[in-house]
Amino acid sequence: MIKLHDKYFKPFISSEEIDSAISKLVDQISTDLGDEIPVFVGILNGSFMFVSDFVKKYPKPCEVTFIKLASYEGLKSTEDIQRLIGLTQDLTGRTVVILEDIIDSGKTMFEVHRIFKNEKVKRLVIATLFYKPQAYKEDFKIHHIGMNIPDKFIVGFGLDYDQLGRDLPEIYQIITTEHMTNIVLFGPPGAGKGTQAVYLRDHYDLVHISTGDVFRYNIKNETALGLLAKSYMDKGELVPDEVTINMLSAEVDKNADAKGFIFDGFPRTKAQAESLDELMNTKDSKINAMIALEVDDNILIQRLLERGKTSGRPDDADESIIKNRISEYYQKTAVLKDFYANQNKYFGLDGVGTIEDITTRLKLVIDIL
Ligand code: AMP
Repeated sequence: MIKLHDKYFKPFISSEEIDSAISKLVDQISTDLGDEIPVFVGILNGSFMFVSDFVKKYPKPCEVTFIKLASYEGLKSTEDIQRLIGLTQDLTGRTVVILEDIIDSGKTMFEVHRIFKNEKVKRLVIATLFYKPQAYKEDFKIHHIGMNIPDKFIVGFGLDYDQLGRDLPEIYQIITTEHMTNIVLFGPPGAGKGTQAVYLRDHYDLVHISTGDVFRYNIKNETALGLLAKSYMDKGELVPDEVTINMLSAEVDKNADAKGFIFDGFPRTKAQAESLDELMNTKDSKINAMIALEVDDNILIQRLLERGKTSGRPDDADESIIKNRISEYYQKTAVLKDFYANQNKYFGLDGVGTIEDITTRLKLVIDIL
């Protein structure tokens, strides 16, 4: 991650990927133009690295010139494009190829076409290294595209954020969701994770995802996922990682605007914890803390048997299944304490006391994250 002015950016497109996108463009354009000697027109400032690499790879004779337009002010493509350096040579009858570093809203293309409307060029070809299909609002045809990218602000390889970042040899993408708070509520079955998650969800306006609840919902609705999960849950065993991870990822994706998540019952294995990190990374975010509710085994068994009288959960009703769930926890899940402790993200709390007491203990931790 890098910081430019007040914003953070993460690596997005490597030098190798840029290089192969440029090689692809060179192949396409040289095939398209045949033996014509083109005039490549780079749009300054952003395209200087692209034009340089492009013409070095171009296999046939060509001319190179630049025009200078200003389109970005900070992070937003501005309505007003200024022509700072115009055309300095006569292009009548020539095949002109515009080399743009990036096309997003298309405002620069509008200006380029206005400039070339009065030039009697033989052909005007538009080529861009990066293209944002979701942002493009103009009708001008773009003949050659190096790479499609999402509508997120990028810097590097000639592109800047308020003049910084042009020198970077690779592309970085802005990080926009740094503010999310993501908490893993941890502890053995019966520790009170579900009960506390509801209070924390409401207090901090977070999305609560309980994998156990999602499985139970699927069982109730007799989905294929539910049928599969039931065979494991009824024995108190863990559902296989692949199934659980895919389900969790879909639940997270459903809540694109969340301020953060409380994960309850997930992760339960190291593979799940690793995939959760990857998933958060794709959201430009991370797990802030694992907060564990520590409760003695005998109390857990009593609590679960008590809950089984009303919960209707088959896995709460039978003492041997409860013991199996607790043993699964110690065998497969408890190791995650070290996984998060090694990152200084583990907070262990006493999970015995009134519901209010425990909520207060949890808030004390979350408020300092
Ligand atoms: P819970 O409601 O969290 O106690 O979960 C009930 C049951 O759902 C567990 O005993 C497992 O069979 C299954 N389950 C819930 N979350 C997971 C998970 N993260 N990985 C594997 N199995 C899970």
